[in-house]
Amino acid sequence: MTWSHWQVPPFITSVFFVLGVLTLYWVSYNWLASLAQKHHLKISDEEINTWYGIIYMFVFAFGIQTLVIGQSDSWEFMNFQLIAVIFVAYFLNIHLPYWLFFPILILYMTFNGSLGYWQSWGHAVTLMTFFVVLNVIRVKFHNHRLAPVMYLLVGIPFGGLLWLWMKLKFNFTWMTLGQEWIYLIIFEILLYVYVSMLTHDVELKSRLAKFASHDALTKVENFAAYTDAMEYLFEEHESSRRPLAMMMFDIDHFKQINDTYGHSAGDAVLKEVADTVQTVLAANDATVKLYRTGGEEFNILFPGYDLTETKQIVNQIFVAVNHLAVHSAKTVINVTISVGVSGATGDDQSPIDFYNRVDHNLYHSKRNGRMQVTVA
Ligand code: GH3
Ligand code: MG
Ligand code: MG
Repeated sequence: MTWSHWQVPPFITSVFFVLGVLTLYWVSYNWLASLAQKHHLKISDEEINTWYGIIYMFVFAFGIQTLVIGQSDSWEFMNFQLIAVIFVAYFLNIHLPYWLFFPILILYMTFNGSLGYWQSWGHAVTLMTFFVVLNVIRVKFHNHRLAPVMYLLVGIPFGGLLWLWMKLKFNFTWMTLGQEWIYLIIFEILLYVYVSMLTHDVELKSRLAKFASHDALTKVENFAAYTDAMEYLFEEHESSRRPLAMMMFDIDHFKQINDTYGHSAGDAVLKEVADTVQTVLAANDATVKLYRTGGEEFNILFPGYDLTETKQIVNQIFVAVNHLAVHSAKTVINVTISVGVSGATGDDQSPIDFYNRVDHNLYHSKRNGRMQVTVA
């Protein structure tokens, strides 16, 4: 093996090329997703995956074609391009309006100089149909046991048909057609296995991330998520003077509930209280989040809210929770809460100053007989 002559068959190189293209996509997508998360951008991972995936594969499919454009073997990279199309159609599951295929295909055919060939038109129509069918089987069989079988039942014949159009255009041998078709099938299998492995990893990661930021009992966000959000929102409040308010509440005589009815009754109360507050928040504003910051202590952050606007939602929560009757083992437990509310001011040097004021207000409510709201 020398620098000019690597003893590696082209097929093996192709396999690693396909894996390399996918790995690079995956690594750069993850980098973009974590960047968006770090900057609290209002874009979901799914949206990044979709749009970045389309652009990446589009640039790849066009870019690779520039290497062979106008040559007698300009079909050489077709398998790579088909893998890009399959990735977008099946694994990104993008529902393009079907008319959008025409400008894309015309653009590609113009770029490739193949507008004048009827075989290329046949190929283009087959490719569009392939895309649509892949979309359909993805939606119908995504979580089905037979999903890989369906994928291959579509991928294999369409691959053969697409190569047949190219044989008619370039008149290469049946042997070449057969070989390229087999390569495509191998790439399709490789794509399926590799993407499944990567997605499995992503699912695991997102489950772990959810586990790290959510409370297992009440399913609301936890103290770690609260400090993270507080840090970011307080900084935003300081830099752009965007208002920020906080409500903190603590269940009254909760120890007594535990002592009287048992720990699992106490747990049921915590769950019902959290659910009730979530329902009120969902009906008002999804950007307002509830956090369980202690045993029976919760915080709510109101980004962009002044005290008057905050008080309206606080009152709804206060009324809803104080009317709650939790049914547990033949008894009905009534719950009340004490509340502290405040807005961040220019005098607050840090989130701690702001937090301490809200905490102070909460303890004022406790000291004054509980089941009340203190705003200051
Ligand atoms: P106050 O009205 O002054 O808030 O009195 P309290 O009894 O609610 O407050 P205290 O701090 O004395 O008691 C809080 C109790 O909450 C003690 C702890 O055992 C209980 N607790 C904390 N986390 C959980 C939990 O996850 N489940 C249950 N069932 N109890 C919990
Ligand atoms: Mg309490
Ligand atoms: Mg407490």
